[in-house]
This record gives sequence, C-alpha cells and structure tokens, in this order.
Amino acid sequence: MRKNYIVLALILAAILLPVGLRCLFPNLYPFFWTFLIVPAVLVPNWRVAGLILFVLTSIEYLTEWALYQGQASQAYWYALVGGTVVQWIVFSVITFFHIEQQKMVKLLHKQTLTDSLTGLYNRRYLDQYRKRLNKSQEAEIGGSFVLILDVDRFKKINDMYGHLFGDEILRQVSQIMRQTIRSMDTVIRMGGEEFVILMQGISSEEAKRTAYSIQNKIGETRFIHKDQVVYITVSMGMTAYSTGEHLDHSLEKADHALYQAKISGRNRIVIAS
Ligand code: GH3
Ligand code: MG
Ligand code: MG
Repeated sequence: MRKNYIVLALILAAILLPVGLRCLFPNLYPFFWTFLIVPAVLVPNWRVAGLILFVLTSIEYLTEWALYQGQASQAYWYALVGGTVVQWIVFSVITFFHIEQQKMVKLLHKQTLTDSLTGLYNRRYLDQYRKRLNKSQEAEIGGSFVLILDVDRFKKINDMYGHLFGDEILRQVSQIMRQTIRSMDTVIRMGGEEFVILMQGISSEEAKRTAYSIQNKIGETRFIHKDQVVYITVSMGMTAYSTGEHLDHSLEKADHALYQAKISGRNRIVIAS
C-alpha cells in the first residue's frame, strides 16, 4: 500500500518536475525528461512499467510540442528523440533485471518454506505461522485443531525395502493428507516421517472425521515395491486449541497424545482433552 503511494508520488514528480523545468528554462536541451524513467523502473511488470513510460513519454512530447510548435532546431529534435531511445533502452535493461530478481526472490521464498521431497511446507513455515498467530487475535483460533501424524515403524520399512521406497511412501502419504484436508488447512512436514496438520475454524466432528479418513486412506493404500504389496499404518495425536492457548502448548499436547498412541499399540488416533 505504502509502495503504491511512493510510485504515485514519483509519477507525479516525474511529470511536474520536467514540465516545470522546461517551462522555466525553455532554451535548454530537453535532458530533464530523463527523470521520467524513475517511476517506470519501479514496477517489476513489463506491461505496467511500459505503459507508465509510454504515458509519460507522451506527456513529454506534448509539452515539447506546446512549447515549440515545430519551431525548434533540428539538433533539438535529435536530442529529444535520442534521449527517448536511450531512455527506453535503459528502461528495458533495468526492468529485465528487476523482473528476474523478483522471480528469484519468489523462488527462494518458496524453497525456504517448503520441503523438497514432499512439496509440503516445512518447519520454517511453522515458525512463520506461529508468529502470525501470535500477532493475530488469539480468539480467532478458538475451535481449531492441531494434529501430529507419524508413520509407524518407518525405520523397518527403510531397512527392508530401501530408502528410495521409503521416500516414495512419504510422498504418497503427503499427497493423501493434502487431498483429504480442506483447502484452508495446513500440512507441514516437521522432519523425517512426522507431519503436523493445522485446521482452523472446524468442528470437533469434522476434525476427527478428517483424521480418521487420513488414517483409513493411508492404511488402505497398496504401496508397491517390485512385485510386493506393502501396507503401512500411522499414529496420530490430536488436540483442540482453546481460546488464548499458545500454539506450542497445543503442539506439545498433540505430541503427548501421539506418544500415547504409539505406546498403546500404534495405528491409532489419540485425542487429548
Ligand atoms: P515409530 O513407530 O516409533 O515411529 O518408529 P519409526 O521406526 O517410525 O521411528 P524412528 O524415529 O525410529 O525412525 C524414523 C525413521 O525415518 C528413521 C529414518 O531413517 C527415517 N527417515 C527420516 N527421514 C527420512 C526420509 O526423508 N526418507 C526416508 N526414506 N526415511 C527417512
Ligand atoms: Mg515413526
Ligand atoms: Mg518419528
């Protein structure tokens, strides 16, 4: 929002300054117009930036025409047109690098927050999520659920079928979770074969239904290793947020519930009260 005002102010300045200077010093060569490039190169978008520069250049030529009405010398017109050509070349180069830099920033941002194996958000994303939650009104998170899912005996699967097959299982498990949750829910790979699902604004029944649905779908999936069918199970710990409760506290509670699910035999969901 603030950036928009700065661009607007610069556009106005880019118009008013050269127009004013041209009227004050009509005998000088029209180099003041170089300033027009500033607002255009601020926008990392070819169409918008090009349009801004086109409109400003039109104002430049209209002003010059109004001042001289075709009476200026040939050298003057060469300087004006030459200046415009240089302006568009410099503009194209700067805008190209500006757009490339923005693409790189976006890519880095994505890579920093996602896990390369599964494409899910990673732990760093949870840190951001936590900060956002702390800043927002905590009352908003009332009625939300946090779920921790861990694949059972995953080390054994790796040992028996190899790490690559283990990776494939993690990818498919991630896909099942993503397909089962609602679009507004968040699933994060915390590390290894452990995942966190955050569901906000959901009823207890629906949250439970989601958890059981994920458990069933994973349990029913036939993971194929060579000619062999492999089945896996998962354990989950789930807890509700209560208004004003800190996310870390809820995660701890869900983790404890997961531990209970593990020690009581695995392949089950424990809901902490
Ligand atoms: P539990 O039922 O108690 O959770 O037992 P577990 O074997 O699943 O748990 P444990 O923590 O002993 O082992 C987790 C294994 O997950 C060990 C590690 O080699 C494996 N692992 C962690 N990250 C990856 C990964 O990215 N790919 C693969 N293939 N395996 C991974
Ligand atoms: Mg495990
Ligand atoms: Mg684990």
